[in-house]
Amino acid sequence: MILPKSNRLTDAQLAEITAIVAEFNCRVQPIIGAVRTIYAIVGDERDELMINRLEGLDYIERIDRIQSPFKLMDRRSDLATHRIAIGGVTLGEQLLVIAGQCTIDPKNPNYFYETAAAVKEAGAHVIRGGVWKPRTNPYSFQGDAKSLDILMEAHRRTGLPVDAEVMDERQLASALDAGVPMLQVGARNALNYSLLSAIGRAVANRPTVVLLKRSLHMGPLAEFISAAEYIASFGNPNVILCPRGTSPAPDGYRNHPDECITPLLKERTWAPVVVDPSHSVGKASYVPACALAAVAYGADGLCIEAHVSPNHGIGDDPKQALTPPVLAETIKKARQLWQLQREN
Ligand code: PEP
Ligand code: MN
Repeated sequence: MILPKSNRLTDAQLAEITAIVAEFNCRVQPIIGAVRTIYAIVGDERDELMINRLEGLDYIERIDRIQSPFKLMDRRSDLATHRIAIGGVTLGEQLLVIAGQCTIDPKNPNYFYETAAAVKEAGAHVIRGGVWKPRTNPYSFQGDAKSLDILMEAHRRTGLPVDAEVMDERQLASALDAGVPMLQVGARNALNYSLLSAIGRAVANRPTVVLLKRSLHMGPLAEFISAAEYIASFGNPNVILCPRGTSPAPDGYRNHPDECITPLLKERTWAPVVVDPSHSVGKASYVPACALAAVAYGADGLCIEAHVSPNHGIGDDPKQALTPPVLAETIKKARQLWQLQREN
């Protein structure tokens, strides 16, 4: 990691360091932060001669060598002071709440508009809505590109940013063209490295935030953080980690709740952790407790499925979605707990 003395390098300086690292088969990746730009050396950056030559340049403050498989997302990285903001919330300063339907029903857009207004009223900062859906059964409803218009209309009506999952490059391009500010990588794609790279490339020069779900069968935590590193390695470090339960599950829950990994993630990475209790436990009656457990474990935010009329929902909504009053109560308690945790 190259730290210049100024807030960013000039074109000539960038060209000079690019030429030096190229001699050692590395490349330079600028990471644009709110205040300063730092420059990651991508490749094997351990060559002493290369480091010495870079350190010898009078516009370089220092070179940090992070011996970590995830040099950008590592807690010891220079990016550790980077803050991600969305919906008026800076992660880490206030509990972020993302809420909305699992799936937008293109035949009944009014439900989504009503849900969007209700989750805003309940205190959510970002509205989620599934446009394209990863469904286990090929005959289940797969989502509909038309729902993207409904999602953006909900944004216009509420003024809140929106979040949707993308599963391939076409969906990614459509979502970005429509102006979706938060993209979700679903559990089934959390280890799809070509999709992670495509998202990283596409958001490199945008303020887009990516919510990266934990894979259903995710192994070591390093695997989860490395998936975030894939996206960040193209230049946009706005990646949020989202535990959402793993498989197999104890009888009765949809997945094995994993909000308890939050402190373990925080020991390793600076990335904010936003827990999804809805897919974790998979049943509305268990969701509030799981949400509070996540906050107790130190989560920076929650992603909760909600619907004005769960019985009229599609996808996961009939089973998992909270009604607006339950969502409002959960958010209220979660905020109190979040505050309490920080007073001690
Ligand atoms: C969803 O958020 O509706 C979803 C499909 O989530 P996951 O990828 O965690 O299963
Ligand atoms: Mn869902």
